[in-house]
Amino acid sequence: LVGSGLILWLPKGAKIRGLLEDFVRQELAKRGYQQVYTPVIGKVDLYEISGHYPYYADSQFAPIEMEDDERYLLRPMNCPHHIQIFAAQKHSYRELPVRLAEFGTVYRYEQSGELSGMTRVRGLTQDDAHLFCTQEQVETEIRDTVDLTLKTLRTLGLNDYRVQVSLREPNSDKYTGDPAHWDAAEETLTRVAKDMNIAHETATGEAAFYGPKLDFMVKDCLGREWQLGTVQLDYNLPERFGLEYIGADNAAHQPVMIHRAPFGSFERFMGILIEHFA
Ligand code: ZN
Repeated sequence: LVGSGLILWLPKGAKIRGLLEDFVRQELAKRGYQQVYTPVIGKVDLYEISGHYPYYADSQFAPIEMEDDERYLLRPMNCPHHIQIFAAQKHSYRELPVRLAEFGTVYRYEQSGELSGMTRVRGLTQDDAHLFCTQEQVETEIRDTVDLTLKTLRTLGLNDYRVQVSLREPNSDKYTGDPAHWDAAEETLTRVAKDMNIAHETATGEAAFYGPKLDFMVKDCLGREWQLGTVQLDYNLPERFGLEYIGADNAAHQPVMIHRAPFGSFERFMGILIEHFA
């Protein structure tokens, strides 16, 4: 992108991204989400609690060191920020699910050899959301997030996709939390994929460190496969952050979290759209 072509093309990219954002906003409104805005930096403590730091220090920008030993990180994930919003108020079971959505920009220090066009970059914006719900609401919420992801792919004409159920490697110590919760979460995701008649396969060892996920792998017009949308079921971060709501029994309970991003990131999705439609 050198020379006069740059001036002609860049505004068109911004227009397309704006249309994609409008599409997401309409779906968020229909499906009962609340849009939020949170900062792109946070105290390092926040990511220590979440487990993203120091374990992923290699793929993050170095902390910003301030006076009095205060350290900040360009955020690698949006989850801890949305958790802070949920945790700022008391919640009754009647208010759940709480669905917080943000076009959240995150930063990852990818190795220079891994950078690639718009599909692998160091600053990216996820069409992210975090749902906080009761155990009884998990299945309905997972179904709706899967439905949204499929609608997104269909609307954009990306019809050649498969769904991967990404599970933990049971013998690995990479995954945190109660094995019983892991079993329940993996069983729920597999069952939803079956019940919704979605062709899927299982990939052991591909889960996030905090929970299993459904990954949507999309083929472009040249047959190359890309991982786009994701739906993740998480019992871990609510525990690490001590989240709770008051149940019908007047006692405190721990909510379950769902992380989901139908496009994945706008940068990567734009890159693939450009390739797919040549
Ligand atoms: Zn998340």
